Amino acid sequence: MNNFTYTSATDTRSALKLLSESPDRNAVRFLAGGTNLVDLMREGIEQPQSIVDITRLPLAEVQELPDGGVRIGAMVRNSHLAAHAMIRGKYPLLAQAILMGASAQLRNMATTGGNLMQRTRCYYFYDRAAACNKRVPGSGCDAVEGFNRIHAILGTSPQCIATHPSDMCVALAALDASVNILGPSGERRVAFVDFHRLPGNTPEVDTNLLPGELITSIDLPPSSSGLHSAYRKVRDRASYAFALVSVAAALRVQDGVIRDVRLALGGVAHKPWRASLAEQSLMGRAATRENFAEAAAVELGPAIARRDNAFKVELAKRTIALVLSELATDDGGVR
Ligand code: SF4
Repeated sequence: MNNFTYTSATDTRSALKLLSESPDRNAVRFLAGGTNLVDLMREGIEQPQSIVDITRLPLAEVQELPDGGVRIGAMVRNSHLAAHAMIRGKYPLLAQAILMGASAQLRNMATTGGNLMQRTRCYYFYDRAAACNKRVPGSGCDAVEGFNRIHAILGTSPQCIATHPSDMCVALAALDASVNILGPSGERRVAFVDFHRLPGNTPEVDTNLLPGELITSIDLPPSSSGLHSAYRKVRDRASYAFALVSVAAALRVQDGVIRDVRLALGGVAHKPWRASLAEQSLMGRAATRENFAEAAAVELGPAIARRDNAFKVELAKRTIALVLSELATDDGGVR
């Protein structure tokens, strides 16, 4: 691990000030739960010059908003969020997704903001002997022609085929969340689906957070009544494993017709993948297994499989169709 300076912030303004005082903002990292950052520093993948500890910031509240939505502070721990009565009652999809991630010990440490900022678990990213455009821009990508069983099938580029590892973020993408950000120019809000980036030609940039900015909270819109929801995670072992494919789905069926559907996928792309093509193909149609399977095929149509991950295309299609069929059954019967 490299040498670095350590400072602790007590409020958001002082956190930003400590950041702005650094000669190189790109060489500063905020430390929250540390569940990914500290690992990356131990491996020498992250070598910050300065660490600003933000664990004392007053951002650990879950609050109801005047419009009936919910604001989740960036420092709310994952375990606290999953157990919160308002989240369990209004957004069970989110609670379910969080509990599918990591282990109980890690969820006790990991924060809401940190969950968004965690980096890919691509093995080549963590192997400093491997070529990796995300770790060393322009060095190549050993995953494209290498062992790529866990890698992405949607939204990839020749420069990077990594996946985003979060479960929580897949639920947030399906729930139309937004991210509140504080920076040198003030506050701004970003739709959750626009927060993470596809790799394109700059896979080293995971998110649209700018240097000098801090995530302060996540907002959830009021929960829609009548939506049945579920998070399904398919993985190699029953616990403490990242998703091969995951599906966050919410569905409302009335008289056999789909009136509302939200769908997001994990384990298939560089960002939590909102399945807009499938949603568009389902709205107003009959809630049948055939239509669910057809919508899944439409969403996975642009998928690009590599040597070892072709199975994910079929796995994603089947998981989408299965989860939606089960939700429709809960909602009055799938035909
Ligand atoms: Fe690096 Fe992305 Fe290639 Fe993995 S897939 S080796 S993270 S460039």
